[in-house]
Amino acid sequence: MALIEIRNLAKAFGTVKAVDGVDLDINSGEFITLLGPSGSGKTTVLRMIAGFEDPDSGTIKLSGQDITHLPPYDRDVNTVFQDYALFPHMDVLANIEYGMRVKKVPKEERREKALKALEQVRLSGYENRKPSQLSGGQRQRVALARALVNRPSVLLLDEPLGALDLKLRQQMQIELKELQREVGITFIFVTHDQEEALTMSDRIAVFDKGRIQQLDKPAAIYEKPRNEFVAGFVGVSNLISGAAAEKLLGKKGTFTVRPEKIRIEGKGAAGVIREVEYLGPATRFLVELDAGVRLVVLQQNSEQSAVDVESLRGRKIALSWDKESEYQVS
Ligand code: ATP
Repeated sequence: MALIEIRNLAKAFGTVKAVDGVDLDINSGEFITLLGPSGSGKTTVLRMIAGFEDPDSGTIKLSGQDITHLPPYDRDVNTVFQDYALFPHMDVLANIEYGMRVKKVPKEERREKALKALEQVRLSGYENRKPSQLSGGQRQRVALARALVNRPSVLLLDEPLGALDLKLRQQMQIELKELQREVGITFIFVTHDQEEALTMSDRIAVFDKGRIQQLDKPAAIYEKPRNEFVAGFVGVSNLISGAAAEKLLGKKGTFTVRPEKIRIEGKGAAGVIREVEYLGPATRFLVELDAGVRLVVLQQNSEQSAVDVESLRGRKIALSWDKESEYQVS
């Protein structure tokens, strides 16, 4: 049995159908990501699981119990918000102990649990600092410790890394995933960042227009997108359709080929390199094929140097790829 069972969940704000019939089973101990563009409904789903938003219809079960209309404090879930929502006048330890103090947990037990949680997020020694004396990443860790201290069955994370710069964000992605493995708590993570979703998740639910477009493991989402939306949102959308598909692939329909699967060679589909972007470890090319389609190509920089790739702009080349790399999206 799934830990969380969501059936036919819907919520409208006025005429906007924010969530429009969502079914989702989440397993115990799973790291699942709700991924989608702004306004696709992922936060509203998370808020309904947390109990901050009341669904118009549908049900949410946690461990078999219907929690659809329970107040937030009666659900065995906890939320980490993007802005961390720490109390500025309380030190780190008081912030982490706050929920337990409200619930009248004895002082010693409170302290012990809070210190353990601090250790888990690698912040031992910071207990007496105020949030203003911490870096963004440290604040994020305090918010995590506070959410984990009561060992909820489920942790809900709403763009928790959104406020961090890229480097810290990537570091926290690894730490968060490690922490989740360590504590074994189910994480439901909301983000609009496809790379973040691909690196961290056991499974990803891709949202658009209030619905789940695809629910799958990261590799399947990336390599076997179910429709054009998923192909375009996750990764670069190299879409080949209509006359170009018939000319290049000899097939009718819409297909995608991922940029790193394409080779620049002497033979194959003829075209011209229009743009070259040097990315450090790799170079990205925009190629306009004679068949009337533009494809992005990604090549590792193991052999050519930056000077070499720049001189390729405007050059006539040919592209090729293996048949297995063509994936039909509609
Ligand atoms: P983002 O990444 O921008 O947070 P999202 O995918 O999480 O986007 P939601 O926040 O779930 O999307 O919003 C879905 C739709 O519902 C949007 O069109 C949004 O404007 C609308 N919406 C969400 N909350 C409210 C509200 N309290 N009142 C009115 N409209 C709302």
